[in-house]
Amino acid sequence: MRYKTPMTRFNPLEELARVKHTFGEHGGVNMSIEASTTFTVTAAEVMPEIFSGRRTADQDGCFLYGRHFNPTVFTLGREIAAVESMQEGYCCASGMAAISAAILQLCSAGDHIVASNAVYGGTFAFLRDFLPAKAGIHTTFVAPDDLAAMEAAITPRTRLIFAESLSNPTLVVADIAALSKLAHAHEAALVIDNTFCPLMITPALHGADVVVHSLTKFMNGASDIIGGAVCGSAEFVTDLMDLNMGSLMLLGPTMDPRIAFEVSMRLPHLGLRMAEHSRRALELCTRLDKLEVPVVYPGLAQHPQHELFTGMLNEGFGYGGIFSIDAGSTDSANQLMEYLQNHHRFGFMAVSLGYSETLMSCSGSSTSSELSDDEQRAVGISPGLVRISIGYTGSLEQRWGQLHDALRHCGLVTKSG
Ligand code: PLP
Repeated sequence: MRYKTPMTRFNPLEELARVKHTFGEHGGVNMSIEASTTFTVTAAEVMPEIFSGRRTADQDGCFLYGRHFNPTVFTLGREIAAVESMQEGYCCASGMAAISAAILQLCSAGDHIVASNAVYGGTFAFLRDFLPAKAGIHTTFVAPDDLAAMEAAITPRTRLIFAESLSNPTLVVADIAALSKLAHAHEAALVIDNTFCPLMITPALHGADVVVHSLTKFMNGASDIIGGAVCGSAEFVTDLMDLNMGSLMLLGPTMDPRIAFEVSMRLPHLGLRMAEHSRRALELCTRLDKLEVPVVYPGLAQHPQHELFTGMLNEGFGYGGIFSIDAGSTDSANQLMEYLQNHHRFGFMAVSLGYSETLMSCSGSSTSSELSDDEQRAVGISPGLVRISIGYTGSLEQRWGQLHDALRHCGLVTKSG
């Protein structure tokens, strides 16, 4: 591993270990799943106190109704807030639920957003199409690494800047500290989607006000659960759950407590998984680069923001499990993915990421297809871009042999390696 500049001293795993352990109802080492939609009280007068906010889940252990707070979901929220170095976190039904709830809480009709133009296609469509049509909230998209353009896009109605810590699928790094300074100078909030970089980057340390996650990806790691999380100040999370104006409370994308339990059980090995995803991605990309395959990975020294990214990283989790190869055309990308899947079982042609197996997709015709051809060109999504979320099954040498053979078979590499 080449770590060129000092990294942060923050250790998210130590923070996770500091979260007060919740034992099961009968002394089980794991917390119980509180599979109740509603909660009883010992005295009738307690109920209005809960409704008025005078008795709360965190301070008094008082719960009201499952869509508001559930003890199991609440525990997972505390754990994710701890690794994100945020006061509070709340978990919901999907990453899109987290993103939409955070944005709707911060913006009202007529407000404005400045967003990175390099974001997941669903987020892009939500900002470009859904919000103006349904809520009168407009977004200006700007390259996240062009701070002057970001500043120029800000208006008196700008309430937030939105970016992904590492963008999907172009792997552009957000300069979170600079974006935070910019947002705060204009009394706006900085919202960071940290889905690609759990544990690796802690956006709050660099000035983010709100951090959102799709728990569907690395956090759960098994491609079996859809979930999301929003982290922020205690005040912000309380606002999200407000009975009259809370976006999570009123739109209702609630996480099931059984799901919260599952995700919570996987957090203790998230660090091991991230380190292995990263170790393999760095090794494969280094070898691809030597063979002059057009590969993009922030761990490679030639990535334009390698130094910036390195300086933001928490030590021990590497540069992440995602890289891309430009196969030159959609046909060539499809041929490569089909050979890798059907001949070698190197991985699967599927969207999503952060799985134990390798997942491959041609972003322009899948997870970024919400962007027009012009928009894709502007953000650097070439038609042949294959996004690869590298898994950790099999051995590294076995996977390298398969990848190298497939690239040769498809005429994408002529050198031996
Ligand atoms: N954020 C990023 C960076 C993503 O890649 C995705 C989905 O691919 C999402 C958010 C949305 O997450 P979910 O599918 O859990 O709603």
